[in-house]
Amino acid sequence: MRFGAHMSTSGGFHKAVQRGRQAGCEVIQIFVKNNMRWLGKPPGEQDARLFKEELGRGDIQMVFGHTGYLINPASPAGPNRTSSIQSLIQEIEFAAVLGVPFLVLHPGAHLGAGEQQGIRRAAAALDEAFAATKTSKVRIALENTAGQGSSLGGKIEHLAGIFDKVNNPGRLGLCIDTAHLFEAGFDIRAAAGWDAVIKSIGKLIGIRQILAFHLNDSKTPLGSRVDRHEHIGKGHIGLDGFRRIVRDARFAKHPASLETRKSPDLHEDVANLATLRKLAGRSGAKN
Ligand SMILES: [Zn+2]
Ligand SMILES: [Zn+2]
Repeated sequence: MRFGAHMSTSGGFHKAVQRGRQAGCEVIQIFVKNNMRWLGKPPGEQDARLFKEELGRGDIQMVFGHTGYLINPASPAGPNRTSSIQSLIQEIEFAAVLGVPFLVLHPGAHLGAGEQQGIRRAAAALDEAFAATKTSKVRIALENTAGQGSSLGGKIEHLAGIFDKVNNPGRLGLCIDTAHLFEAGFDIRAAAGWDAVIKSIGKLIGIRQILAFHLNDSKTPLGSRVDRHEHIGKGHIGLDGFRRIVRDARFAKHPASLETRKSPDLHEDVANLATLRKLAGRSGAKN
């Protein structure tokens, strides 16, 4: 895996690349706009240019995005759904301006309507967003979730259902979050549990649809359905679990981002990245 972390874009998109470099990332994840607002301003020409120049230095090998937290593709008809689709369209457009190849998206919460209805709504919302951005190459990587509340994505079948129902599944992909898998009840501490969930993804969706990983340990126990990230090796998944995951040869080139707590000096990211590289047998080296 190519390791990295989510980086703040405060001060400009190029700053995220600089922060990633400072922490020793090979890849980074960013928000392409304020993640707590429906709409934002598109990246300016100067912004995009600085960002691409910074990336041109080559040490950060790729940047992918995470969509805003307000978006609920599975919400019922109404202002929330309209805003969710508008917001998603805008994010796809912003990602294209920046040259970001895909955006991670939570499949959303059905809010009591039931899983099947939620899956249908999410697929229909994605169809609308894809239709409005027809010529875009930007893909949406559906993220598995802890399955909290009425959230979809705690089961691989939910993600598979969305793939099956959208008109253009070529615009979709997957982002697999280790903490969310564990919290949703997949015991990825053991080889059998990890292999079973990857096998299930392979059978129901296709292993090549996995575009990225989120590497987070879990603060909450197996099957808690409570989403709380912890530093690598400090949570319930533990070092032995992550050693197997980061050594999985099927994912040798996949981008894998931390989403764990950090201070402005990023020392937690530095420590987590060192842990990951050690577990991967790379002795703290960058590659
Ligand atoms: Zn996420
Ligand atoms: Zn995640």
